[in-house]
Amino acid sequence: MANSIKKDGAIPVANLEGVDIDTIAIRAGIHRTHELEHSEAIFPTSSFVFNNAAEAAARFSGESKGNIYSRFTNPTVQMFEERIAAMEGGERAVATASGMAAILSTCVALLKQGDNVVCSRSVFGTTNVFFEKYMAKFGVTTTFVDLTDFAQWQEAVGQNTRLLFLETPSNPVCEIGDIKALSELAHRHDALLVVDNCFCTPALQRPLLLGADIVVHSATKYLDGQGRCVGGVVVGSNVLMEDVYGFLRSAGPTMSPFNAWVFLKGLETLCLRMKAHSESALAIAEWLDSKDSVESVFYTGLKTHPQYELARQQQNGFGGVLSFRIKGGKDEAWKFIDGLQFISITANLGDTKSTITHPATTTHGRLSDEAKARSGITDNLIRISVGLESVEDIKKDLQLGFMSAGLA
Ligand SMILES: *Cc1c(COP(=O)(O)O)cnc(C)c1O
Repeated sequence: MANSIKKDGAIPVANLEGVDIDTIAIRAGIHRTHELEHSEAIFPTSSFVFNNAAEAAARFSGESKGNIYSRFTNPTVQMFEERIAAMEGGERAVATASGMAAILSTCVALLKQGDNVVCSRSVFGTTNVFFEKYMAKFGVTTTFVDLTDFAQWQEAVGQNTRLLFLETPSNPVCEIGDIKALSELAHRHDALLVVDNCFCTPALQRPLLLGADIVVHSATKYLDGQGRCVGGVVVGSNVLMEDVYGFLRSAGPTMSPFNAWVFLKGLETLCLRMKAHSESALAIAEWLDSKDSVESVFYTGLKTHPQYELARQQQNGFGGVLSFRIKGGKDEAWKFIDGLQFISITANLGDTKSTITHPATTTHGRLSDEAKARSGITDNLIRISVGLESVEDIKKDLQLGFMSAGLA
């Protein structure tokens, strides 16, 4: 490994064999300028200059490599792309303006009219809307199936199926999709498996190494980790990413250099943070599980979780998001949330700050009652993204919630 680190401390992305992800997260994808800055530079420029007309022509024709315009490439964005690709074990990454832009770019680049997507029912609410309302307009159909019911996936995959799409663990009730089994199913039908790896991040789960073809991220969540920027990224093979990049360059939902720089800094502490988030979330899940005022707790790190073994096989940590059903209904859930002192009521997750939401009336409020019931989103369900405050202080705050709901 010592040999693969250059004198300037950057690891060439082509030479990562035997290098741990903790090191890749800090050292991969660094391109220094002549100033030899230690921390990665931000290039806040919309375009790049050419020395003469012939050079400009060569760049535009693709004959010579190099930057032209920041909708196409930008050095700071490129550093982020190289680093996250290396962390996920993919050949190439394409950074996007948001997580939804990553999903949009993947779908528009790789699907055409008449194609079908088989999608887990338990995906981010906006992903649902995107497939049902917008992809449908362009003649791409989506079949929704239960994440954990393999037979439903098998039945839904048809001749026109081009993509299988899932999140694992799912939001908010932490179900696990079997990445290996679903990638084999996809490949038997010449389809691609796309995994939204937002909840685990490559620090805890690397879907491409389990057989998935594409990983998408909302970088807004754990990759940033401190709730500052909106961004996304798509990772996969050179061939697939060339198509995704082609769409991005033509349509424009690119990542800004400033945001790319914030995400680069986020990646440096990602492995450390994910370990800490996982430890704290397990402690909180066990504490909630021991309470009479809690009906059930959903967290893959609990040995009582029906897919605990599968989670252990494909993840090397359980992550920071959990949910639980409080005794009672919407009233108790809202009173619980309103009784908290510091845990933030906000839609973001994956932040150093603990956050809490009532999915039935916020993130999943647009779903029909039937869809909510199928996804386990009851009125007494509360989701917590466990942050990095002290576990004892988080418990004290949650205890205030139980008191406020009249359940302590
Ligand atoms: C937030 C989120 C998205 C969308 O990402 P944005 O950055 O908000 O566009 C997609 N998938 C999951 C699982 C998310 O949590």
